[in-house]
Amino acid sequence: MKSVTVIGASLAGLYAARALRAQGYDGRLTIVGAEPHRPYDRPPLSKEFLTAPATTAEDPSTEDPSTEDLSTEGQLALTDAEEVAGLDAEWLLGTRATRLDPRQRTIRLDTGRTLTTDGVVLATGAAPRRLPGPAPAGSHTLRTLDDARALRADLTCGGPARVVVIGGGFIGAEVAASCAALGHQVTVVEAAPLPLVPQLGYAMAELCSRLHGDHGVALRTGTGVRGLHSAGRDDRVTGVELSDGRLLPADVVVTGIGVRPATDWLEGSGLPLGDGVRCDAGCVTPIPTIVAAGDVAHVAGARAEHWTNATEQAATAVHNLLAGRTARTHRALPYFWSDQYGVRLQFAGHHRPGDVPRIVEGSPDDRSFLARYERDGRTTAVLALNRPRPFMRLRRELARATQPAPTA
Ligand code: FAD
Ligand code: NAP
Repeated sequence: MKSVTVIGASLAGLYAARALRAQGYDGRLTIVGAEPHRPYDRPPLSKEFLTAPATTAEDPSTEDPSTEDLSTEGQLALTDAEEVAGLDAEWLLGTRATRLDPRQRTIRLDTGRTLTTDGVVLATGAAPRRLPGPAPAGSHTLRTLDDARALRADLTCGGPARVVVIGGGFIGAEVAASCAALGHQVTVVEAAPLPLVPQLGYAMAELCSRLHGDHGVALRTGTGVRGLHSAGRDDRVTGVELSDGRLLPADVVVTGIGVRPATDWLEGSGLPLGDGVRCDAGCVTPIPTIVAAGDVAHVAGARAEHWTNATEQAATAVHNLLAGRTARTHRALPYFWSDQYGVRLQFAGHHRPGDVPRIVEGSPDDRSFLARYERDGRTTAVLALNRPRPFMRLRRELARATQPAPTA
């Protein structure tokens, strides 16, 4: 293989580039990223990035965005100049791939350029779902650094504001916690009867949802949103109308109602799409020279939207791309963390409805505990609130127990 193109210059894309060089690939490497920034970390964007005082000028424009120093913005940068030089890649930032033609081995870019490539790593992640209708000033989604800068500007421009967060999932909970820490009056609106039930199961989701109330954040569940109200010459948001007709006054609105995998540009490529790019257990599409990793990859029937998954899949995908076949499968134990209201929540494993959680250490009243999920006497998953060490021990145990036996 003489040329590989990575589409998506973020977490999975960077880890794929690293893995290519680490696994001995010495051909041409091109990295295409729609954002103008070099790879940066998204987790802080909903957490300390919003609450920390700005450490750099708010004007994000620089002469050359690809050399922008993100390390001054709360250590967001995932890479540095030395690594960038070592990767020996052509970076096409602020550039969007618009079409993939596997037969011609070409990728068309929105700059008008067409790349010809032997191998492709698809790492385009996901984009926020939006409410129907216009988005007035003061209403936000949160996925990118630029989104976070805009939200932070609105949250820190005056005194206490009324913030309505739509969606009580990860973005919703973390942003609500950050807004509460900034002294705002926060309401979270969640369509489901309780947030995070698919991820944690009912009992543990209920315990975690108590964190909102602890910090004076109102949680309104079981209600959707009809639309946003706005007024004034600058058409600023003034409220959120719920599906039952009630109106919540709002100065700032943040919508975190899930994401869609970024596959629009792959329509017509012939690749199987459907909740992501469909891959086998080795992150390989039906065309062995095209692999996928991270939030965009639907691997062996499942898609994950978490940091650790993106990094692990990138290594597997690249291994198989260079092998020209599925030589290795992605079998890592799912893991994610979330920081909310000063509490670190960590989860590992596979939770299925019917698994029974059992608290084995600590107490929910202290917002510090360790729980095992059990099925037929076996541990299937582990959850911790503010118990990082014992959690890591159980996570390692669980990973060992669920690892397939080595084949002869
Ligand atoms: P992304 O990070 O989405 O990167 C995809 C990149 O591809 C983007 O830069 C995008 O612009 C680019 N792209 C898209 N389409 C094109 C195209 N056509 N051409 C070129 N480029 C394109 N996970 C955790 O486990 N714990 C956390 O605490 C946590 N916190 C988070 C907080 C926030 C605010 C967010 C948004 C996510 C958080 N996550 C967290 C999830 C984690 O960040 C993601 O799982 C991870 O970023 C996925 O990496 P990725 O590279 O697959 O996709
Ligand atoms: P999410 O975790 O899928 O949560 C979205 C929530 O919004 C769900 O509870 C959903 O309920 C609810 N919802 C959907 N439509 C709604 C509506 N119209 N009104 C009110 N509520 C509605 O997605 P997210 O919080 O937006 O996060 C986006 C992505 O970032 C995800 O990939 C997430 O994994 C990632 N992220 C991860 C972390 C972390 O791991 N710590 C942190 C931040 C972000 P239903 O389920 O009933 O639809």
